[in-house]
Formats: sequence, C-alpha cells, structure tokens
Amino acid sequence: MKETILGVQVNTENYDELIPKVFRNIEDKKKSLVVAINPEKLMKAKEDPGLKALLNRAEFQIPDGIGVIIASKLKKGSISSRITGIDMMDRIVREAARTGRAVFLYGAKPGVADKAAQQLKQTYPDLIVAGTQDGYESDTSKVLETINKAKPDILFVAMGSPKQEQWIEQHRDNLYPTLYQGVGGSFDVLAGNVKRAPAAFQRMGAEWLYRLLKEPSRLKRQMNLPKFLFEVFKQK
Ligand code: UDP
Repeated sequence: MKETILGVQVNTENYDELIPKVFRNIEDKKKSLVVAINPEKLMKAKEDPGLKALLNRAEFQIPDGIGVIIASKLKKGSISSRITGIDMMDRIVREAARTGRAVFLYGAKPGVADKAAQQLKQTYPDLIVAGTQDGYESDTSKVLETINKAKPDILFVAMGSPKQEQWIEQHRDNLYPTLYQGVGGSFDVLAGNVKRAPAAFQRMGAEWLYRLLKEPSRLKRQMNLPKFLFEVFKQK
C-alpha cells in the first residue's frame, strides 16, 4: 500500500510486511528499487519535477525520517513507523543471508565497502557477499562489468541521494541484480567511520536531536522540517 505526501508515493507497510514483498519480486525476477523518503527529499522534489518523477518510479519508497510519519498523521494517513534506509538494508541483508541471495556493495571511499561487508559477514555468517566496489571509479562500464561478473541478486548503492538512484535507474536494465537500494552514507556507518545515534535516541525517533547536539550547525538544515510540515498542512 502507498500514500501520497507532497506528490510522492510512500509505502505504508512496516518492515515485517515489506520484506516479503521485496523478496517476492526477487523470486519473480522483477527488478525493483528501494528509495528512502525523507522531508529533505520531498522538499527538493517539490521544486524538481524530474526528481519527483524519479522517486515515484521506484517500486518501493520507505518512510525514512520522523517528519514523514508526522506528515502522514497530519493527513490522517496510515504510516505509523519509520523505515530508515540503513535498517531496511539490515533487514534485506538478514533475509538474503537466510535465503541464500547474494549481495554486492557499491559506493563510498575505497576500502569502506569492504569493511562494511566484513561487518555484515560477522553479523550474518551465512551471508554471501558477491563483491564490493568503491564509489569513485569513473569508468562506468568497468563498474557494470565487475557487478555483472559477480552475479549478485541484490545491489546496494551508497553514493548519496539522488545520485545513487539516478545511477541505478540509468543502468539497471544492463545489470544482473534484481533488487536495488540506494543507501546513502550507510557503508560509512557499517564500517564504523560514522557513528549512529545511541539506541535510546533511535527508539524515540530523535536521531535528529542527537545530530543537532553533536553538530549545532545542522540547525539551519533542520529548520526545514517545520517548513515541510507547513507545506503538507497546506496541501491537506
Ligand atoms: N560517494 C561515492 N561516490 C561519489 C560521491 C559520494 O561513493 O561520487 C559516497 C560517499 O563516500 C559517502 C556517500 O556516498 O559514503 C554519501 O553519503 P551521504 O551521507 O552524503 O548520503 P545521504 O545519506 O545524505 O544521501
């Protein structure tokens, strides 16, 4: 199920409902893209029809960010829990390990995807990592070849948004994997280069507060949230 927030479709399911749908597409050999939706992207998409169309073309749009949940509530929608990009990646990886689907990690600085893959293997010993590739190789055909030779079922692309989603759309017809997810800075987090907020902040949906306390300069960016909610309210 999906509902529309500022003209962009967002999935309403929780993890347990969404994972089987995502993996059914792999079984059916139906290519699909998972994109994380947050207020920042929705505000950008409002001004950029190309980006809006790109987000809407994805097969799955997950509600990342507490702002999306508040927006859904304002519209009397049914999105009740966040699905963050990195947690969705974790769920996909867990299910991939369980069902023998191979994953490939593409993106981030040299060495980071490798380290992230090692971390994932530690958590999920059965996981098949078909390969990794850093996000700074300029020869695209080389990247495509590396991925296709490894024959992964699932490709995670960590190059920042919307660059990663644009890359996936542009190339997925020529790529082997069936499932694609743009995961932003997740490899850096998995590799331990960037710390996530403590669990208590995560549980309260207050990662934004933790980041704000650590980096007060983010205030300007975070002031966009009230603006975003006002836009949602206006369109109600
Ligand atoms: N990155 C990359 N290739 C590029 C530009 C960026 O692999 O040409 C990587 C960068 O090293 C970092 C990630 O993309 O690991 C960007 O993460 P960011 O947190 O900016 O993305 P967001 O989650 O904000 O979309």
